[in-house]
Amino acid sequence: MLNIILMGPPGAGKGTQAKILIAKFNIPHISTGDMFREAIKEGTPLGKLAASYINDGHLVPDDVTIGLVKERLSKDDCANGYLLDGFPRTIPQAEALEVLTKEIGREVNYVINIDTPKEELVSRICGRRVCKKCGAPYHIVNVKPKVDGVCDICGGELVQRPDDNEEALNIRLEAYTKQTKPLLDFYAKKGLLKTFSGKSREELTPQLLELLEGK
Ligand code: ADP
Ligand code: ZN
Repeated sequence: MLNIILMGPPGAGKGTQAKILIAKFNIPHISTGDMFREAIKEGTPLGKLAASYINDGHLVPDDVTIGLVKERLSKDDCANGYLLDGFPRTIPQAEALEVLTKEIGREVNYVINIDTPKEELVSRICGRRVCKKCGAPYHIVNVKPKVDGVCDICGGELVQRPDDNEEALNIRLEAYTKQTKPLLDFYAKKGLLKTFSGKSREELTPQLLELLEGK
């Protein structure tokens, strides 16, 4: 059973690796960031609340985020494994996750930390563009689409996330350092943490597959 948490600073490439792993192991991708963006797009009350935090780079309050994940993890499709991407991000979230997963017999057994140097994060995030329709990620220099501003996969329009600018990124990095980094120690003490440092996306994928394969 693969009950995985994927961790790392904004821009580490969590989303890209997550998409490969969920396809390979056929488990649901639970990205709190994606869930919030979906709610914002639909204009739900949750979306309105989330937008007021996300757009300038702040974390959404714990009670809201925990409630959302609790509901999602209890669904049937998580019975044979799941991949959490972007959750937990604070110690209270990690503690709540522990209680919840124990209750439902779906305890986390892998915490994968993708470590990336800060200089690289800034250029990756500020040059990032995403498809408005399917969410596929691009980069103005590193991962160009075939036609400028158009998604290769679905033809959707490529846009910049409202929080992918230097100002919001600084706030996100500060939240990461202060609130999320302490989780590395939390999971290391439980013997669950595996860190991968300074790997290109092409190098990292086979290493993650090797770690998780046959489990
Ligand atoms: P990134 O890792 O690139 O920052 P995400 O898509 O994971 O992007 O998250 C985008 C934003 O959504 C975060 O900056 C935060 O505002 C909000 N968010 C996502 N997950 C959480 C979480 N677990 N707790 C609080 N806020 C969250
Ligand atoms: Zn697309």
